[in-house]
Amino acid sequence: MIRIAVLSGKGGTGKTSVAAALGYLAGREAVLCDCDVDASNLSLVAGAVNVQSQEYSGGKVAVIDPEICTGCGACVGACHFDAIESQGSRFRIESAACEGCGYCALVCPARAITMVDRKSGDIFTAESRFGSAIVYAELSINAENSGKLSTQVRRIADEIATERGAFAVIIDGPPGISCPAIAAATGTNYILFVSEPTLSGVSDLERALEMARKMHIPSGVLVNRGDINQDLSDEIRMIAEKSELDFWGILPLSSDFVRAVRAGKTVLEETEDEHIFSILKTTWLSIQMRFKTANSDTGI
Ligand code: SF4
Ligand code: SF4
Repeated sequence: MIRIAVLSGKGGTGKTSVAAALGYLAGREAVLCDCDVDASNLSLVAGAVNVQSQEYSGGKVAVIDPEICTGCGACVGACHFDAIESQGSRFRIESAACEGCGYCALVCPARAITMVDRKSGDIFTAESRFGSAIVYAELSINAENSGKLSTQVRRIADEIATERGAFAVIIDGPPGISCPAIAAATGTNYILFVSEPTLSGVSDLERALEMARKMHIPSGVLVNRGDINQDLSDEIRMIAEKSELDFWGILPLSSDFVRAVRAGKTVLEETEDEHIFSILKTTWLSIQMRFKTANSDTGI
């Protein structure tokens, strides 16, 4: 089983549309994994029907038992995050401000404070319209640790892929190159960067490629909305070639992408543009062939 991460330097480049299109082409051979837990929408495009859900706790939060609390106030001074407030003789912890360090529980002489799991989100396992499993998550409001949540989503997707004997896990990563994107890319066999021909798009791509280089992960680049700026599209092609990366082509600016998302479909189910179809299909088949050949050569 291989893992392919679809990433972009920033949001709105069409990363999810590309990941969904690859998933559509792969069908049952893939498990889809949405690691963009801050703005999960791969499941909408894939027509996912939930099969299972589970709560995810990514940290701890302090809770005061009012029956045990003596009102001494020691915890208030101990908390460096001003998360504990008094209301007369009663003390309460503002969970949104609590960093879960546990210091208040240590200093409380009455042992009135306990550390409990903080719900960070929900993880869903679903079946896509095109026969593949899909794993995605929703981060709770005010929750942090989206990197840890996406790592958990990755783990579940891996397990399902192994159970089903799937050829690939296709990961729709979060935008950017911060912690959640690095978590989505870690341990993958291939990164497909979706870029757009704008000045910020080019500099975002260069930073993203640097990240992939440091992680020693083979990568390729696909330009979306190429007609916005043909010169910058050509520059992206040159960057990819100079870095000896795969360059998979230039998708045109097309309302088919937006229409497909609105219809809850992949662009391949909506477009009649042969060029779009051909670039995405060639990208998927080429990546697939490369790893199938490599696996058969190594007997994996
Ligand atoms: S666990 Fe830490 S941050 Fe939370 S209330 Fe206690 S001392 Fe403050
Ligand atoms: S330290 Fe413990 S007993 Fe004292 S106010 Fe805080 S929770 Fe209550």
